[in-house]
Amino acid sequence: MAQAPINKIINFSSVDGPGNRMAIFLQTCPFSCWYCHNPETIKACIHCGDCVLTCPSDALHMIDGKVVWDEDKCTQCDTCIRTCKYSSTPKILEMSAESLIKRVREVKPFIKGVTVSGGECMNHPDFLLDFFTLVKAEGLGTLLDSNGFRRFADYPKLMEVCDGVMLDVKASDPAFHQELTKADNSMVLLNLEQLLNTHKLQEVRIVILPNKPDENERTIRYVASIIQDKAPLKLLRYRPFGVRDEGLKELGMGNTSLEEMNRCLDLAKSLNVKDIEIK
Ligand code: SF4
Ligand code: SF4
Repeated sequence: MAQAPINKIINFSSVDGPGNRMAIFLQTCPFSCWYCHNPETIKACIHCGDCVLTCPSDALHMIDGKVVWDEDKCTQCDTCIRTCKYSSTPKILEMSAESLIKRVREVKPFIKGVTVSGGECMNHPDFLLDFFTLVKAEGLGTLLDSNGFRRFADYPKLMEVCDGVMLDVKASDPAFHQELTKADNSMVLLNLEQLLNTHKLQEVRIVILPNKPDENERTIRYVASIIQDKAPLKLLRYRPFGVRDEGLKELGMGNTSLEEMNRCLDLAKSLNVKDIEIK
C-alpha cells in the first residue's frame, strides 16, 4: 500500500469539515502562498542535517544519510523548523494507509469522519485512494482540503471513495494568483466547476486579504457566479500569525478588518450565495 509523509495528526477537530473529525496533514505543496501559516509543510526535507545539532532535546539524528525524528524525545519547541532554510521540517512520519487506519480505529467511536489536508493532500493521490478505501470500510466520512492544483476528474476511483472537497480559491485573477501563490490558477477554476457539477464540492474557501479589497471582491464575484446557491462559501479572515516576511510585507501586520469581512459577506449575499460562514 502507498505511503505518505505525515506532518501532523489531530485526533479530534471541529474546524476541518462537519462534525468531529480526525484531521491529517500531509507534507509538501506546489503553492507557496504569501499567507501560508504552515510554511514548513511546503517542501520535502532534503536531509541536509542542518537542524540536527540545533535540537535541544536530542530528538534528531542522522542515520544512513537521513534525518530521523524521535517523536518521544521531541518537546515541540520548533527550533528545527526555525533552523531549516528549505521550508521543511524533520518532524515527519512516513506512514502507510494500513498503519494510519489503525490510528483512525482508536478514535472511531468519537468521530464522524476524516479530513486530509496539507501541505497539499493531492500531492499523494495513490495514498489517498488506499487510505480512503480503508476509511470507507470503517463506515466513516472522507473529505479532502485542497488548493485544487490537480484535476480531480483524473482520479475517478479516488473520487468514488471521497465524500467531497473543501476547495481553496486563493484568487480568481490569474496574474494576482500567480503573485500570491507562485502558481497558476486555471486548474483550480476548472475544478471549482467540475466538483460542483459532480456534487463533490463540500465548500469553497476564500481568504479575505487586509489590503486587497479589489482582489477580494473579484474573487467573491467569480466564485459566486459559479456556485450561486448550490454550495457553501467560507470567508476566512487573514491573520498574520506564523506568516513569512514576504507575506507580512505584502499584506501588512494586521488582521483583515471586520469592516472588510462584513463588506465581503454582504457582497456574497447580494450575489445569491445562501450558505456563507465567516471564520
Ligand atoms: S521541535 Fe525540533 S528542535 Fe524541538 S525538540 Fe522537537 S525535533 Fe528537537
Ligand atoms: S528539516 Fe530542513 S534543515 Fe532539517 S534536515 Fe531537513 S532540509 Fe535540512
